[in-house]
Amino acid sequence: MDTYNMLLEILPKEYIYIDEPMSKHTTFKIGGLADYFVTPTKSEQIKKIIVISKQNNIPLTVIGNGSNVLVKDSGIRGITIKPKIENIEIEDDFIIAGAGVNLTKLSKIAMLNSLHGLEFAYGIPGCVGGAIKMNSGAHESEMKDVVYETSYIDFDGNIKNINNEEHKFEYRKTRFFDEKAIILETKLKLVKGNKEDIREKMDEYIKIRKERQPLEYPSAGSVFKRGKDFISAKLIDDAGLKGTRIGGAEVSKKHAGFIINVNNASYSDVINLINYIKEEIYKKFKVNIEEEIQII
Ligand SMILES: Cc1cc2nc3c(=O)[nH]c(=O)nc-3n(C[C@H](O)[C@H](O)[C@H](O)COP(=O)(O)OP(=O)(O)OC[C@H]3O[C@@H](n4cnc5c(N)ncnc54)[C@H](O)[C@@H]3O)c2cc1C
Repeated sequence: MDTYNMLLEILPKEYIYIDEPMSKHTTFKIGGLADYFVTPTKSEQIKKIIVISKQNNIPLTVIGNGSNVLVKDSGIRGITIKPKIENIEIEDDFIIAGAGVNLTKLSKIAMLNSLHGLEFAYGIPGCVGGAIKMNSGAHESEMKDVVYETSYIDFDGNIKNINNEEHKFEYRKTRFFDEKAIILETKLKLVKGNKEDIREKMDEYIKIRKERQPLEYPSAGSVFKRGKDFISAKLIDDAGLKGTRIGGAEVSKKHAGFIINVNNASYSDVINLINYIKEEIYKKFKVNIEEEIQII
């Protein structure tokens, strides 16, 4: 049986896309065609997809909101899964959220329920699954501070539950960098607070984002990680690289840590610009800066 027919036995037709442009599913608006792009809504469907991909040696890729990835112009072979598990449940000061839940929506729901701790995530344009893998954070907080437990399915089809410590959270890094898996759901532990105070913090954070980030252009956020004793964006600024352009990709003049897609940038434009920045920073400061964004 071919891949499409195998997928049809698992998912409704509307959830299966053939030769889907990844530029439609990344905030960079860059990326070639995914052979099969699927949007399962249930864990059981994901498990079945993992099983067929393993049995038939079909490569498997997972994507969330595509806000921290750069997809090659050659696209993605095999099956690309975007989990659309979007359940949200509140139990006391815990929130359980599916991998496909939008972070900004989740932080708003936390606020509306007077739960404090997720204000930092307001304005991060990702989903829960991607945020867990990346240990996303802002304003001195990160997912590590609020995650209680997570369930995921490994590429052998086993569903596992891990507590906070077992995520091996580091700065923008977790166990999911080494273990191939699809995050299904996470349980966050928040703290009861005052709704108005929480709302005020969120308003303040979004104001800072709008002031500092080039939100009017497609991008994948900060391209480089911070170092132990340096801020990559500051080095890029100090090196005078703001505004440097290769093809349709440009170092943002507003925030040196962002590369923006100003004019139909290709994967190669962005990669060439990334490499140019890294070389210049090394030449000027003898520092190796490292990408945060994930190349697919
Ligand atoms: C304007 C802008 C501002 C941003 N600001 C911030 C910020 O303040 N702080 C910050 O940390 N980040 C920031 N980002 C980056 C990004 O939004 C976050 O890292 C976000 O949490 C990634 O989530 P995502 O769903 O988009 O993941 P994606 O970009 O789709 O994926 C990221 C990685 O996670 C994997 N992945 C996705 N879903 C799953 C899943 N269910 N199971 C297993 N693996 C999965 C992907 O394979 C990929 O390796 C920003 C990005 C933009 C464009």
